[in-house]
Amino acid sequence: MTGADTVFAPATAPGRAGIAVIRVSGPGAADAVADLTGAGVPTPRTAVLRSLRGADGDLIDRGLVLWFPGPNSFTGEDLAEFQVHGGRAVTTALAEALIARPGVRPAEPGEFSKRAFLNGRLDLTEAEGLADLVAAETAAQRRQALRQMAGGLGTLYEGWRSDLVSLLAHAEADIDFPDEDLPDGLAAAVRPGIVALRDRITAHLDDGHRGERLRDGLYVVIVGPPNAGKSSLLNALARRDAAIVSATAGTTRDVIEVHLDIGGYPVLLADTAGLRRAAGEIEGEGVRRALARAARADLKIVLADATAGDAGASGVAALIDADSLVALNKIDLAPSAGAVEVGGHPALAISVRTGAGMPAFLSALEAKVAARLDAGGAPPLTRARHRAALAECRAALARSLNADAAELVAEDLRLAARALGRITGRVDVEDILDVVFADFCIGK
Ligand code: GDP
Repeated sequence: MTGADTVFAPATAPGRAGIAVIRVSGPGAADAVADLTGAGVPTPRTAVLRSLRGADGDLIDRGLVLWFPGPNSFTGEDLAEFQVHGGRAVTTALAEALIARPGVRPAEPGEFSKRAFLNGRLDLTEAEGLADLVAAETAAQRRQALRQMAGGLGTLYEGWRSDLVSLLAHAEADIDFPDEDLPDGLAAAVRPGIVALRDRITAHLDDGHRGERLRDGLYVVIVGPPNAGKSSLLNALARRDAAIVSATAGTTRDVIEVHLDIGGYPVLLADTAGLRRAAGEIEGEGVRRALARAARADLKIVLADATAGDAGASGVAALIDADSLVALNKIDLAPSAGAVEVGGHPALAISVRTGAGMPAFLSALEAKVAARLDAGGAPPLTRARHRAALAECRAALARSLNADAAELVAEDLRLAARALGRITGRVDVEDILDVVFADFCIGK
């Protein structure tokens, strides 16, 4: 990226801290280091302690300077890192000294990563993984982001794209050398490959949105009749008073949501109004919302009241499905000898008040959440952007299978490859085709 501006930005969050890291990337980075330190650039990738001075010679701070010459730096450009004391006056003075230099400006959001992408240091999925890692709040999110950052998804999609490109090469061969004795032409060489790839993409798309849910949080809703202990359960899980707990039935008028880390997985847990025909208009609206939330939920915690007898299960039994965890609360008031059930479904006996049965309930919840989010080996799709491109790719593959002319097959394969290429953003399809065709040549 010759001729680009030199940009700088704090890599650490603003505010008072022991250390602030300021990074400078671009053609002017070496001169900035030389002028600020009054010495040449240090040995690459080795920390050195230097006094940093502004143009007027005023001492800004003493700090560590690191030098990462391009192209083997994060951005692919010359890059310097200043580690100074993390006070506002220090970082402001350093920023002012940098801005005063010709061709140096503050970086735009994401500009370091964007430069890394443009210089071929990262593909788009890796850059997205990096953004996810910075945003990760739970262990599973961190692991997914790290994996994507390390190229897990990019490698998968690039692999599919190179399969596609060689299928395309075969299809093109059929067009260019129609008289050649290619065994059964297109059908034999290309069709099975297209079918196999289409099926792999279908399986990948049909993943229950695991990767996306892991980024955003699994939506878990607590449903049950009024007074069953839904708010109490949410509070117990959140370990803070997020919902109002009251002994009067029907006090949870709206939906209350809390973000939780359940066994390393991010969960958005919602408490809903009790399911019951309500007299009050507000509560009626609450019930309507509760049902709407339950319908949208990834998982439901169906909570019944042990003191309410069969009435405790009324209304909730219909909501129980494969994505439900069923519990019977208040067993401290109505102890039960054997296994308990709610509306004919096996349930966990708990007392939110005394904590009885809660460890088993938590492990069951953790297991349900993990089962819903764990991709089990294959790198999961993590963004709607990827999903849209994959769906487009699959549609083009499906079209190609119905196309009746080799030219049309080739065109659909080209569109399919381009859709995949947009996910990683690494190379234009045409570039790859040139390379492949140079090798392809079939002896002609
Ligand atoms: P919600 O309407 O389903 O949200 O129910 P709440 O969480 O507001 O609880 C209703 C009442 O039941 C409150 O007085 C709670 O303290 C009480 N409660 C909740 N869980 C238990 C429990 O396990 N045992 C007993 N004895 N009372 C409970």
